[in-house]
Amino acid sequence: MKLYNSLTHTRDEFVTHEPGKVTMYTCGPTVYHFAHIGNLRSYIMEDVLEKYLSYAGYDVKRAMNITDVGHLSSDGDTGEDKMLKGAKREHKTVMEIAQYYTDAFFADCAKLNIKIPEIVVPATSYVDHFIEMVEKLIADGYAYEAGGNIYFDTSKLDEYYVFNKQNQEDLAVGVREGVEEDGNKRNKCDFVLWFTKSKFDDQELKWDSPWGVGYPGWHIECSAISLNTLGEYLDLHCGGIDNAFPHHTNEIAQSEAYLGHKWCSQWFHVLHLNTNDGKMSKSKGEFLTVSLLEEKGYDPLVYRFFCLQSHYRKSLVFSWEGLDNARVSYDKLIDRIASLVPGGEVNEAACEKQLKAFADAMDNDLNTAMAVTALYDVLKAKISDADKLWLFERFDSVLSVGLLDAAAKKREALAREKAEAEAAAAAERAEAMKDPFVAEIYAAIDERAAAKKAKNFARADEIRAELLAKGVTLIDTPQGTTYKIGE
Ligand SMILES: [Zn+2]
Repeated sequence: MKLYNSLTHTRDEFVTHEPGKVTMYTCGPTVYHFAHIGNLRSYIMEDVLEKYLSYAGYDVKRAMNITDVGHLSSDGDTGEDKMLKGAKREHKTVMEIAQYYTDAFFADCAKLNIKIPEIVVPATSYVDHFIEMVEKLIADGYAYEAGGNIYFDTSKLDEYYVFNKQNQEDLAVGVREGVEEDGNKRNKCDFVLWFTKSKFDDQELKWDSPWGVGYPGWHIECSAISLNTLGEYLDLHCGGIDNAFPHHTNEIAQSEAYLGHKWCSQWFHVLHLNTNDGKMSKSKGEFLTVSLLEEKGYDPLVYRFFCLQSHYRKSLVFSWEGLDNARVSYDKLIDRIASLVPGGEVNEAACEKQLKAFADAMDNDLNTAMAVTALYDVLKAKISDADKLWLFERFDSVLSVGLLDAAAKKREALAREKAEAEAAAAAERAEAMKDPFVAEIYAAIDERAAAKKAKNFARADEIRAELLAKGVTLIDTPQGTTYKIGE
């Protein structure tokens, strides 16, 4: 499998530290608000990646943090604590806010068929590990204390800007923008590992540390959680592109300084979801959440399908029209799958071409748009319905857009409609039969049908003629025989 690696800027052959096994880390949500569908795009694509690696035979071990402390409103250690901001907004405690939005995040994931990683660690449960890591970084000369906070010293590294050497100034914007200079920092890009000088007297969550009562910086949590749950060689680290700097850059700095060797070999970054008027932000305009999609009548899986139709490494423009188009395609696809007849033997050997097309698409830097095209090719293929349904089940174990469930529901709905129509017709006939003349006509129709079934066509014709003599014309339709009075 070829996967683009943000570290090397090339599509690398996917290689793991231990053959057949993948350790995968995902930066989890900061649980101070509902997740934005732009953030959820990253989780959808990471979910597809994890499921495809499992599909391809890897044993995947995946961990994710829940940021319930320490993420300030700027990714560069400044501004207000996001958690505290959420708590103030909603007049709740920080832990209540964390629990509420953690549950909300998992509920969104369930609606989007996103599997929750096997290991989920709230940052507040890992404070001892953060302190241990910071202590070692200080002991090894990579961190210093200034003004009460502990900072990572980026000047001690051979290379700090790991993701993009050409645009150091651009990347540094993340540190500079809208922020007062922190005079304690020895270097512009140094970052906080442990805060004791909180700007807020009412910081709710505080822990004892060798440097005084305080709380961890945001970046340290992912390093500590990853190292402690997945080991010191990480195969794959995922996140949205906005995490590449400074968050992931700082994770690499402190992890490798701590370990004394290279840490994560492959970095997977999902690009932004934008609206036509620029990057969508949680603070501006309409707040696009899964609940809003549902309120507007969209199945969340249609949003997942919409995301799959474009490549994760391209910015995706979100619009309601775009989502409508995705819904039309999705519904058509489901209709066609619903028309396949379930049951019968599956001939896996006959499906080789389709399996290869799907794997080729996904092996090509997780090209989900091509994988969706492979679904349509299955419909066109000269294989049995049983084979097609088997393939859809296989592919949907990765794409997870609910193909078979939705098709089954569609099939049930069609069967229900048919039964209702038949019941209505029977009721109409029963009503009409109250008239003796109509009852006589129906009796004749039934007798004629029986005669035809017995291949007694002479009798069938005779009945038709008898009715015609009484002014009744029979009309044969695919649904059965009806009649009209007169010619
Ligand atoms: Zn992280």
